Amino acid sequence: MDQTNLKNERSLENFWMPFTANRQFKALPRLLASAEGMHYTDVDGNSVLDGTAGLWCCNAGHGRKKISQAVERQLSTLDFAPTFQMGHPIAFDFASKLAKIAPGGPDAKLDRVFFTGSGSESVDTALKIAIAYQRSIGQGTRTRIIGREKGYHGVGFGGISVGGLVNNRRVFPQIPADHMRHTLDIERNAFSKGLPANGIELADDLERLVQLHGAETIAAAIVEPMSGSAGVILPPKGYLEKLRATADKYGIMLIFDEVITGFGRLGTPFAVDYFGVVPDLVTTAKGLTNGTIPMGAVFASRKVYDGLMVGPDNAIELFHGYTYSGHPVACAAGIATLEIYEEEGLLTRAAELAEYWQDALHSLKGLPHVVDIRNLGLVGAVELAPRDGASGTRAYDVFVDCFKKGLLIRVTGDIIALSPPLIVEKGQIETIVSTIGDALKRAA
Ligand code: PMP
Repeated sequence: MDQTNLKNERSLENFWMPFTANRQFKALPRLLASAEGMHYTDVDGNSVLDGTAGLWCCNAGHGRKKISQAVERQLSTLDFAPTFQMGHPIAFDFASKLAKIAPGGPDAKLDRVFFTGSGSESVDTALKIAIAYQRSIGQGTRTRIIGREKGYHGVGFGGISVGGLVNNRRVFPQIPADHMRHTLDIERNAFSKGLPANGIELADDLERLVQLHGAETIAAAIVEPMSGSAGVILPPKGYLEKLRATADKYGIMLIFDEVITGFGRLGTPFAVDYFGVVPDLVTTAKGLTNGTIPMGAVFASRKVYDGLMVGPDNAIELFHGYTYSGHPVACAAGIATLEIYEEEGLLTRAAELAEYWQDALHSLKGLPHVVDIRNLGLVGAVELAPRDGASGTRAYDVFVDCFKKGLLIRVTGDIIALSPPLIVEKGQIETIVSTIGDALKRAA
């Protein structure tokens, strides 16, 4: 098949697209050419409202001059310098600024920051820190990690081992890990607003796995405080508190994967602040630089950091790091991003809009095929009944229809997931909801 896009005289053959049905996409491509504020513009000049903050990452919207200017300045000042046995000021400055908003209360701030290049790298880093820390405190038999069914923790071998999305694991070997049950339980929780009331007993599964494997084999448990990629699965009330209590009881470290929830998505800087449950490690990426320059960060407690700063002064404490850990240009983008978040109050803006967002989304109840609606902060999901024998096709049709009408949404199976930039205005929320509503009516 000739996959040359004649209109733009552009071949689509060589870019092997990630997480995409390449042949389907290349037959009917959707190409975004520029972006400003809440909107993309496609190659044909059509404006597309961003209902997904890119890929859960452009929290301050697009085309932010403060970020591009900071990046330009940094590129012409210090384009790259290593952080292995060398340093450069901006990486330390960015870590210090992040420490000020780091997750955790005043006595338990996770303010030691390890930089990575992505969410997947943050997850692999956190898993390695957990195992190394356990070993350094004399718990070297603890090498197993507990994840959850349907968990998404990126695509590194560590991340797919603890992740629970079957398609991501199916053909690849994995490190020892086991998974807690994590069902959606629409039957008991359909159309609940905010956190579902039912299902706290799911947290007992950690206890079951401790009994199965022995606490002395388990280093850590990792969860997304709000699971995004699996289709927005919210924790039942009290669930995370219970996980924390069980982890404490057995000396298991708790890791929150906040690659999506970090940087204001739920109306607090981190989900840790939203739930008031403090883990030992927090993984982030995406909103860290407003999605502009690839970067991730792992936030660790002082206890974990200090626990690894042992041995002779001249010994490397953690044999781990990336060429791009603390990349100066990414740090410049990150500092500018934090300044925008602070100046515009974006880390708490989702809390101001949450109720409006909730009411708007739930107005879709009763439309054809809608079996559930979920929301928290500025996250939403509209779940559709699968078409007979063709799971995912109905939501995909709605996605294509919405795009044609100028709205970008995201679909996972038959779930429409929404996460607009945190600068979204009420009128734009109305547009998002009415565009989806019209598409649902047409799909009927
Ligand atoms: N963890 C979570 C919770 C995520 O949502 C994602 C990405 N959606 C990742 C990890 C992986 O991040 P990246 O794609 O930057 O590697």
